[in-house]
Amino acid sequence: MERLGTLAQWRDWAEGTRRAGRAVSVVPTMGALHEGHRALVAAAVAAGDEVLVTSFVNPRQFENLADLTAYPRTPEADAALVEAAGAAALATPSLEEMWPDHPAPTATTVHVAGLSEVLEGAQRPGHFDGVASVVAKILILSGPCRLWLGEKDFQQVAVISQMVRDLALPVSVATVPTVREDSGLALSSRNVRLSEAGRRRALGLVAALRAAGEHPARASVLRARMARVMAEAGVEVAYAEVVDPASLEPCDDSARGRCRALVAGYVEGVRLIDNDEVEVGED
Ligand code: AMP
Repeated sequence: MERLGTLAQWRDWAEGTRRAGRAVSVVPTMGALHEGHRALVAAAVAAGDEVLVTSFVNPRQFENLADLTAYPRTPEADAALVEAAGAAALATPSLEEMWPDHPAPTATTVHVAGLSEVLEGAQRPGHFDGVASVVAKILILSGPCRLWLGEKDFQQVAVISQMVRDLALPVSVATVPTVREDSGLALSSRNVRLSEAGRRRALGLVAALRAAGEHPARASVLRARMARVMAEAGVEVAYAEVVDPASLEPCDDSARGRCRALVAGYVEGVRLIDNDEVEVGED
């Protein structure tokens, strides 16, 4: 596996791969890799492309300095996981090269209006500007490619897909389903910050999604049901929403059929998110 520490090495590798007649697949991550990331790399490898994993803790997508400081970093284990999963290259760019002006604000920002401003975006101002800007840079450095994203970050997939359409980027977006522990807890790099008791409380998120999926009901009933289940489990509820999967607009009570339930909450000060498909119907 190639280790790409500079942007020049990254560009050269991507260009060389294409010149050799191979397609490039990109899996962007912030490191602290787990089985969810492994599933993305494995899916990309199985698709037959040369897989480039990027690992960069992007300060521009953290609206909260404490969260950035506490973000776990496991570079050696990450490199071993990526190599074992069959990736061809791992890019670990420096902050100086990715955002040369940091900590001063970067002049150029990619803003995806609408989709960036609801749900996570409403509660984490600037978060999706940071995500879209870094993913745009990753795609430009990588050249034409297939981009792999996890459904765990459902809104992120919507925002990035919109950016790719709007800018006609030469990229196809592929997704993988959320990887979960046996308990149902969605894997997340932030889970390592939870105590054993915290992990049990965090199951309130998946319990809420399951409760919403059990019996179809009007959107407002599903929202209330999810918020109650989370609160009872000891999760501090940030939101419990039922939205149209394409527009991310809240479903009203006349909506019927497949919608997306998204939940967010705090456990032991750690922000956790999860989502799943739900059926909205008569209750
Ligand atoms: P992150 O390192 O958290 O920025 O995530 C990098 C990529 O891995 C994103 O596309 C995430 O959606 C994806 N990802 C994170 N957790 C999971 C999971 N549990 N299952 C599937 N994909 C995931």
